Amino acid sequence: GIIVITGGECFLLGDNLYELVKYINSKKLSCRIVTNGYWAKTRETAFDVLSKLKDAGLNEINFSTGDDHLEFVPIEYIKNGIIASMSLNIMTLVNVEYGINRTFDLRNITEDTDIKQYLFPNRKISPLGIVNGLWMPFTKESLQKIEEQLPFNTNKNIGRCENLFNTLTITPNHRMIACCGLPATYIRYLDLGNARTGNLKSLYDNQFNDFLKIWLYVEGPYKILLFISEKIGKENVKELSLNSHTCFYCACIFSNQIYMEIIKKSYQDVYSIVMFKYFILKRRKNEKK
Ligand code: SF4
Repeated sequence: GIIVITGGECFLLGDNLYELVKYINSKKLSCRIVTNGYWAKTRETAFDVLSKLKDAGLNEINFSTGDDHLEFVPIEYIKNGIIASMSLNIMTLVNVEYGINRTFDLRNITEDTDIKQYLFPNRKISPLGIVNGLWMPFTKESLQKIEEQLPFNTNKNIGRCENLFNTLTITPNHRMIACCGLPATYIRYLDLGNARTGNLKSLYDNQFNDFLKIWLYVEGPYKILLFISEKIGKENVKELSLNSHTCFYCACIFSNQIYMEIIKKSYQDVYSIVMFKYFILKRRKNEKK
């Protein structure tokens, strides 16, 4: 298993972050941290912080950057972090925001003279990954704003949601969330309950009584939107023509009362076929174990 410590910004936890990594390591779990790198002001600081984390048992670090992040954290900090983590042989991934009208993109990192050398690692160095992350809105307001800016849908993330049932999130206020999708914390439906007072196993198991979660797992939110469009007409489901992240389509479903009503009213049309596919997926998964 892997525990991912993310945020907000998890380095704000201060010394508790080291304790947390140590604890995860003591449970023989792998640990990844996701950060904006604001703490890596110099190469020395970055090296000191990451050495301490590596000693505590950190396996992987992900740095987030791009136009929105760069407003607050200069790219030099990210570079300090990358160079330090590579020299410590920590698995490193840089996630660059992706979207239309962005000035900073993947090439600003891959073609950087200080970073280039790590992209063709020899066997002694952990690999450095640099990927594009489709930027996701976090709130209902930003969801509406982003809908106006998204390009026409040419490359759809129409797959199923493999995150559900395989990943759980615990928020700082002790809520257990059914996935780690970026909009998950403001989709109330994905809130499984209080992780402090509830029984963790029961909170997890209860999800399987919920057909919509199984449907998301089997078909994914885009196909659910297609199903809705069959009921109310494609012209009334505008998200279908927008190119975005799988979780964007999910957030659109849960923030739209009309869509939710249609699901409630008509889910039985697909119940048997979805459950059948679910049991096949489950059987394949068990065979792989
Ligand atoms: S698609 Fe929905 S359920 Fe799946 S990870 Fe994204 S927000 Fe979570």
